[in-house]
Amino acid sequence: YFRALEQRGIHLNEPQIEAVRHGDGPLLVLAGAGSGKTSVLVGRVGYLCAVRQIDPNALLLVTFSKKAADEMKQRVAQLPGMDAQQAKRIKAQTYHSFFLRVIKQNGIDKDILGSGRQEQIAMKKIIKGLGFQDRYQPETILSLLSFYKLQLKNIRELGDAVEKEIKDIFLAYEDWKAQNNYINFDDVLLMAYELLSKQPDVLAALQKQCRYLLVDEFQDTNLVQYKLIQMIAQPQNNLMVVGDDDQTIYSFNGADSDFILAFDRQYPNAETVTLDINYRSTQRIIGLGNAVIHKNKRRKEKTLKATNTSPLVPRYLRPTNSDDEAERLIELISRIVQQKKQSYKDIAVLFRSSANSRAMLEQLALSHIPYMDYGDKETFYDHWVVKPLLAHLRLSLDPQKLEAIDDVLPTLYIPRDKGREFLQNKERIHANDHPFDHLNSFPSLKGFQQKQVTERIALVPTLHKMKPQQAIQKMRQAFYDAYLQANQPSKFSQYKENLLDQLDELESSAARFLTVTEFIHFIDEFKRKREAMMARGAVQNDEDAVSLMTIHKSKGMEFPIVFLIGASEGTIPHHSIFDASKMKDTYPSLSQKQKVEAALEEERRLAYVAITRAKSHLVVSSPKSSQGRETDISRFFSDIFQDKATQNPSPRPVRGGKMETVNAWICTGHDCIVWQRISNHKEAQLDSKPCPICQSPMEKGRKDVLQTSSS
Ligand code: ATP
Ligand code: MG
Repeated sequence: YFRALEQRGIHLNEPQIEAVRHGDGPLLVLAGAGSGKTSVLVGRVGYLCAVRQIDPNALLLVTFSKKAADEMKQRVAQLPGMDAQQAKRIKAQTYHSFFLRVIKQNGIDKDILGSGRQEQIAMKKIIKGLGFQDRYQPETILSLLSFYKLQLKNIRELGDAVEKEIKDIFLAYEDWKAQNNYINFDDVLLMAYELLSKQPDVLAALQKQCRYLLVDEFQDTNLVQYKLIQMIAQPQNNLMVVGDDDQTIYSFNGADSDFILAFDRQYPNAETVTLDINYRSTQRIIGLGNAVIHKNKRRKEKTLKATNTSPLVPRYLRPTNSDDEAERLIELISRIVQQKKQSYKDIAVLFRSSANSRAMLEQLALSHIPYMDYGDKETFYDHWVVKPLLAHLRLSLDPQKLEAIDDVLPTLYIPRDKGREFLQNKERIHANDHPFDHLNSFPSLKGFQQKQVTERIALVPTLHKMKPQQAIQKMRQAFYDAYLQANQPSKFSQYKENLLDQLDELESSAARFLTVTEFIHFIDEFKRKREAMMARGAVQNDEDAVSLMTIHKSKGMEFPIVFLIGASEGTIPHHSIFDASKMKDTYPSLSQKQKVEAALEEERRLAYVAITRAKSHLVVSSPKSSQGRETDISRFFSDIFQDKATQNPSPRPVRGGKMETVNAWICTGHDCIVWQRISNHKEAQLDSKPCPICQSPMEKGRKDVLQTSSS
């Protein structure tokens, strides 16, 4: 089998072979990024089927995304003794898709509340129904509810873990779902858990069906997922889990790296295999990854050595802002592709959250570069907090624009259809007036609405006379500020922060233009180009297109060239984590200070995941300003060479130029390099003390590898 694998170009090293050949019983592969964990898992699937003659049907492979599941099946089909037909029979699925089928097969037939937006709308109604609309945001309540449920907490018995009001909202929401026969993604897992706990025959049938379980990305498993897997794996416990505690990035979903770290205690007869050779990235990239993750305290110490000794080093950019960043990277992408060394599909652009990709997406579309956006289908300008503000601007420019009115109505708590019907009638009667001006005679407006409507009618005609950024500021104050500042006794407040980010980003986008007309014209032009591109099909099939995704989505993937954008303080680490009160529930047993530390460690893991996606080229870009605020280089990158604790030389000004920032110090295991950039774009080398991590002498910062796009 292994010889046949080699003939197919798949070479496995000794510990990898050991894991593939593992007999029955539990198996843990705990190893760093790019060390071949997923490869081993795939290899073992082939081995079980081809050598041990296990029926492919008896295998259950759990992956983190549908894309990963599909890729795995494709890879399995290439293995010796396998073909597409056989590979198809293997169950390679996400937790959700697998357990959705399980509950359906057992007669549980419910409608799935699909998109997050659908749930938000429903939750908004519930909160309003209870009269709490000024106190709680639907997004936050939903994430809090999910957090408890995924930890198998009975929300009727939460004690005083949450305020009574919140508990009331939880219960009202659950009741509403039950009455309407709805379930959400969390409920799929919980119902499966209940089903398997209460019906031993159903569990037994499933255990018989899935005799070999293989779980990828195990570090991001949450409690209910782990319990489900454990139940099905019994009694043989043919359970293989692979993962890396340094890559736990879903704590806000209840993922807990303790499960992987304590696996051998949970299963004392488990075989543990560690892999320490990275086959993915160059030594410089791994050196950087090691140096970054090294700073986390709560982790299992691992060493990771790279096999690729290419002298290429990661590159650093310090653009003015995200628009400048996008411009420079587009230039770089065009250059790379023109030189025909690499094609678009070799390039990935990674970012912290979707708001950080606004500029990049715009410029890609405007410069006709094909790209595949793994994020939401909608553009930044269609986001539900952004779109209504733009609708106001459109209405201001063209008071007859009925489509714009459609998006304005919900912000006044008036249903679209009724409002529109009313205004169309008015339009017929008062042909020369502007329809929106008649809105204050809309029937049955409540007192607070009446006031809002009157204010809005006065506001709209003034907007297009302002600078676009000013107009946006004015609207966000009027429409959202009270809502966003609503008392939030919540956990991570992921959503709240994201909404603020969206609004800040909209302001920075608007700040580029002098007039509202120009701003709206630009957005329309961008959307037109984007749609034209989608129509050509270039964006749907990932033939040859640049990939854009959040770091979270990039888990497990690899690309020859990775651009990590927005690597500045406030973005990564995200500013929200410094408010420990918001993380009350994420890390319940920790002190305020410890909570921030724990959250910071998760952010650092996120940086580590991003770095380790790159095979040969990594560009880390840290804009000088983000959403209108000055920002430093992300501490995860600046820390590693400014830290006294590691006796690393601290940056000092170099003769002939004001020092702007130290660029990088990279531990590669030998000949480590330290270099810095000075403001007149010359590079200078720092002194050559031994590397604080590996103690080897440091190489001089070389000019050829030091290019930044401005130098
Ligand atoms: P991650 O932690 O990011 O999920 P991983 O540990 O799952 O990474 P893989 O994706 O399996 O790592 O492997 C990384 C790269 O190394 C892949 O391109 C894979 O083909 C290659 N690889 C794995 N093992 C070997 C080997 N023994 N020899 C050569 N290349 C290998
Ligand atoms: Mg993997």
